[in-house]
Amino acid sequence: MSKSLRLTEKWMQRGLWLVAFVFAGFLIGLGGTLVGDLPRVERQLSVDDFLDAATVEPLRNAIKNADRAGLRADAALEQAQLKRNSAQADTASSRETFDNWLATRRATQLSEQDPELIARTRALDALKANERAAGVAVEAQQQAALNARQSAAKEREALQQLEQSAQQQLYAESRRTELRVFLYRLALTLPLLVIAGWLFVKKRKSTYWPFVWGFIIFALFAFFVELVPYLPSYGGYVRYIVGIVMTVLVGRQAIVALNRYLEKQKLAEQLPDAQRRDELSYDTALTRLSKSVCPGCERGVDLKNTAIDFCPHCGIGLFDHCLKCTARKSAFAKFCHACGATGKAAPSTSRVTDIADAPLMNS
Ligand SMILES: [Zn+2]
Ligand SMILES: [Zn+2]
Repeated sequence: MSKSLRLTEKWMQRGLWLVAFVFAGFLIGLGGTLVGDLPRVERQLSVDDFLDAATVEPLRNAIKNADRAGLRADAALEQAQLKRNSAQADTASSRETFDNWLATRRATQLSEQDPELIARTRALDALKANERAAGVAVEAQQQAALNARQSAAKEREALQQLEQSAQQQLYAESRRTELRVFLYRLALTLPLLVIAGWLFVKKRKSTYWPFVWGFIIFALFAFFVELVPYLPSYGGYVRYIVGIVMTVLVGRQAIVALNRYLEKQKLAEQLPDAQRRDELSYDTALTRLSKSVCPGCERGVDLKNTAIDFCPHCGIGLFDHCLKCTARKSAFAKFCHACGATGKAAPSTSRVTDIADAPLMNS
């Protein structure tokens, strides 16, 4: 429409669109503040909310204690192993000395050394016993570490089972929460959408259209930003189904609108030429002419060809001749561009007329 509008009108229109957007912006801000000030509907839940503290706490403590006992046993085991190693080394070196001594004794055959043999054997036995004791200590620590580890594992398994069932409950609950949040948001946005739809159908061309469009933009924003992301997913089913339904609805509306337009157009093209011209608004006609389409049927027409006075598609008169100076001029022009005479025919009611043919001018 912009090409046919008066310059000031064009700029005013742009200003009004700006008003529409600013209005929408403030509405969006107000809506956001309102939603932000509402009490939070849902708090974030965690697995712990579905666990019985009376059963879980002792389990957790037991695991902690067993872990600690295991660590302690591991440290003691290391010490015991070190002790055993040193006892083993002691025994080994003593045995070596003893063996050497024994070999010497065998060679010398000195019987007075028998008491020393006994003493040395005793000392070696004592070392052996010491080594054995160290070994026992190591085994005891190994046992303690193993016990601690096994008991921790058992408790952990029990806890895991509890947590698993709690996890399932949490999942189910978060599903319900998701749905509640969505319904809550739907309750907030649906009235807006309904009002916006009504405004679009009834009021989008009213005098106060910038406010109407501002509200519609606000409602669309609320729908796409405040509602759509909160659609419960159910594994993607809901989103796709809602998408399909919306597409079908919008598509159906578009098809209906197209058919209605064609119907109207067909009816209009059957009307008398002059009446059709009268029914077309001046601005609409100018816009269509500026796009090189017939104002009557919106099909392309070569307007520069001076031989074409009528639309070859629908027969509407595009050019006629001034009754005063006979200059060829647009049939939609209100005044003759050559002499300034009024170019409009008197509204004809009785018969099919063309301005050029019928001398029904009120000059
Ligand atoms: Zn036409
Ligand atoms: Zn003229």
